Amino acid sequence: MKIKKYAIISLFLLLFFQMPIFSSDFNMEYLFNIYEQYRSVPKNLMLMKHKHVVHELSIIQDLNNTVKVEQVGNSVENRSINLVSFGKGKIKILLWSQMHGNEPTATAALLAIFRYFADNIDNPFVQYLQKNISIHALIMLNPDGAERFQRRNAYDIDINRDANMLQTPEGKILKNMQERIKPDYGFNLHNMGGRETVDGTNNILKIGLMAPPFNKENEDNPIRIKAKKVAVHIKSVLDKYINGHVAKYKADYMPRAFGDAMQFWGVSTVLLETGSYTGDDPIFLEKLNFVALLSVFDILAKNKLTEIDEKKYDEIPLEGRPVFDLLIKNALIVNGLKIEPFMGDVGINVDYKLKNGKIDTIGYIKDIGDLSIYNGKNIIEGEDLVLTPGFIAIDNVNKENKSELLQKGFTTIYHTNEDLKLQLTPTILDTDILIERIPEFTSILAKKYNLSKKGEIKRNYAADILLFSKENDSSVDLGNLRYLIVNGQIKKTQE
Ligand SMILES: [Zn+2]
Repeated sequence: MKIKKYAIISLFLLLFFQMPIFSSDFNMEYLFNIYEQYRSVPKNLMLMKHKHVVHELSIIQDLNNTVKVEQVGNSVENRSINLVSFGKGKIKILLWSQMHGNEPTATAALLAIFRYFADNIDNPFVQYLQKNISIHALIMLNPDGAERFQRRNAYDIDINRDANMLQTPEGKILKNMQERIKPDYGFNLHNMGGRETVDGTNNILKIGLMAPPFNKENEDNPIRIKAKKVAVHIKSVLDKYINGHVAKYKADYMPRAFGDAMQFWGVSTVLLETGSYTGDDPIFLEKLNFVALLSVFDILAKNKLTEIDEKKYDEIPLEGRPVFDLLIKNALIVNGLKIEPFMGDVGINVDYKLKNGKIDTIGYIKDIGDLSIYNGKNIIEGEDLVLTPGFIAIDNVNKENKSELLQKGFTTIYHTNEDLKLQLTPTILDTDILIERIPEFTSILAKKYNLSKKGEIKRNYAADILLFSKENDSSVDLGNLRYLIVNGQIKKTQE
């Protein structure tokens, strides 16, 4: 008797812990935790290319023919654009990712979703979705942009402003799919820069949502109301993971954009803008896309959208002002242009670009002036500090003492074949120097050696910046370097 009882309890416990396999219920925690099992692309999504997508789609198709992959066209440069479809249900969903080539998060999440379907076709939850909805996805709609990791396509056109003229093959494909599939729901999947905030807070926006308007009056109709309900649902899912970091994406009516156009064409469309793929934990953001989309599929399959109050859409906070990666407040700026030093704030951002297959970090001056309405991820209080461009050293021999030179404020070491010994500017170091003379030689050398984005403090110039303590009103001690900022990164801090 006893043994039988334990056997029953054991079986019950086994069933309980295996729940996701035996139940058609949506188990968010479980799905969140299994994401990486189904993730296939390079860890750094800047390196994810069309070939990775094509390779993964061929694996998915081989695994299970219930996930269908169909080439529906080509990009400008003849890369295949593929529609991936799953499910036989009446409710039709169309998703498209990476129409901006440098916005990759949703591509990774969508590939994982279809891989999960293909691998778990006997799972009751997957079967339930298969029976009740039809999911179609254009994964990596802008492969040429992805190859270069740039927003626009090979024509240098923004596909998301091409919804009406359809001048790009990629835009035409998306429009064709809308006409062919006639989806009830649309998901326009993007990334933001990672510097947006939630209004009224300093919280970095991790996911932005919008049910785009279909007219300039910003009116509602039954189509948009459904989109608002979907957005409200996604918000409630995301709040479990990133409460306080979700906001409404801020944009006016843009008839040229696909989200607004889809809404106008009768597709209940939600824009999902994920934060930066270069943040602290980009895979976490992919997981959020993965569970949020699966959760939407679940409520659409179960016809639960009607239970959601669309008025909650209005309660989602708006996107706030962007922050700078680094904000230097109230410094005395000597900009290298032979202008009297002036007080100002300097906002610096760091971007990543793909160059010859490698990721380049670019720190640049984004803005100068009264930036007191903005915040910074890092902030330097510049009171009593003199801000100048990083120094330039011209060198053809002393390659080895680079770090030593850096400690003295030489952020650029220009190597030349000219027959000269190390030239340092300014020539007098570790002594008092008149404030306005600090960047004089730097500026001259920058011009002479064509270092066009160095040597001056100007917008879009290199964020190689020195901050010295002020000795008195007219001079600084060059040995008293407080902050050394190279390419937007703080390299040295002296207290
Ligand atoms: Zn975008």
